[in-house]
Amino acid sequence: MSTDSVYLDSNATTPPLPEVVEAVMSGLSEHWANASSSHAMGQSSRQVLAQARGHVARFLNCKPAEVVFTSGATEANHMALRGAVGFNGRHRLVLSAGEHAGVRKLADSLEARAGVVLGWIGLTPEGGLDVRHAAELITDEVSLVSVMAANNETGVLMPIGEMARLAHAQGALLHVDATQQVGKLPFDFGRCGADLVSVSAHKFGGPKGVGALIVRQGLNWPALFQGSQERGRRGGTENLPGILGMAAAAQSHTLPVDAWMQRATRVGALRDQLEQGLMARLPGTVVYGIGQPRLPNTSYLRFGMLHADVVLQRLEQLGVMASSGAACSSSGQEPSAVLRAMGVPRAEALCAIRLSLSPATTHEQVQYVLHGLPQALAPLMEAPAGLSAPTVSPTGVFA
Ligand code: PMP
Repeated sequence: MSTDSVYLDSNATTPPLPEVVEAVMSGLSEHWANASSSHAMGQSSRQVLAQARGHVARFLNCKPAEVVFTSGATEANHMALRGAVGFNGRHRLVLSAGEHAGVRKLADSLEARAGVVLGWIGLTPEGGLDVRHAAELITDEVSLVSVMAANNETGVLMPIGEMARLAHAQGALLHVDATQQVGKLPFDFGRCGADLVSVSAHKFGGPKGVGALIVRQGLNWPALFQGSQERGRRGGTENLPGILGMAAAAQSHTLPVDAWMQRATRVGALRDQLEQGLMARLPGTVVYGIGQPRLPNTSYLRFGMLHADVVLQRLEQLGVMASSGAACSSSGQEPSAVLRAMGVPRAEALCAIRLSLSPATTHEQVQYVLHGLPQALAPLMEAPAGLSAPTVSPTGVFA
């Protein structure tokens, strides 16, 4: 990334913190022995692995024994959903229609191949969970309810406590994909009511390719990969460099509540400044999920009917890194499933882009975007009818 770039894609990934780079390096250069080896070097690796587990547990307020290290949130989500098939003799899963694409696709494949029956909780037009719909779907035949803590595109926070109550009242378990909340707002496993929680290190300053499934103590959860590591819950030689990096990131985010609030308030103020400024300068700007409890760093918006590809192209020219929300829509062919579930028409959904800030985002960067983007987009938005959305789309996907 050029030093002049403005990185507003923190929901896609975050840069590794300096202490994370150091910890990964120590995993590669010092603690490279296999943590399962019985010799002294293996014991040393085992010891740092145990320390790392402790740091991650402290950060998430769970017990060290509840942490199962994985290759990331995708694997953790797979472990949660696959493990739920047949749990308590039940074969029904209930998910939200706004889940991450990896979860939705996995659920579809379980339905096709494993005889699972799916129930999809709808989203409200504001991007929240339709709790009444959830209550209808969660019956005593459901083994697992799976919802995100915060949506990766809109940033809208989901009512986890409510979902835990609904699930547990029917003898079902609750899995929470907390990938986007962890590192942006405090997340407390002990208090959230979930039985299983997925997290990913690279979303909070850690390395890619490492994450965890937190499994509530007492739940004998099946492994995806057989082997003796992770107490038989995840076979395969531990990725110690990655795990040490994740632990370093966890330590740097283990903050007192007031420090969290300070950070979230500062990031939220910059995000609000950005949104308000864009709405004022570019009439026709729509912010999805505005007014809902949201992650403080996330803004999901469209500028009139300008196609996301066009907006991202202009942002790129300004040196601003951003995304259209869902990776699958970055080709411009498929609109965001989250927006579609919110009832947003396809043509509008194809216009949405996501700006996701971080604690490193500065006031100057926000001012830079507020100055440059309206200049770049206003002439396009003012184009006479007939010359607007369809003709400015480079992919021509608007029929
Ligand atoms: N769940 C959510 C909500 C995510 O945003 C992501 C990453 N985009 C994942 C799961 C997948 O995480 P990972 O990259 O660790 O596999």
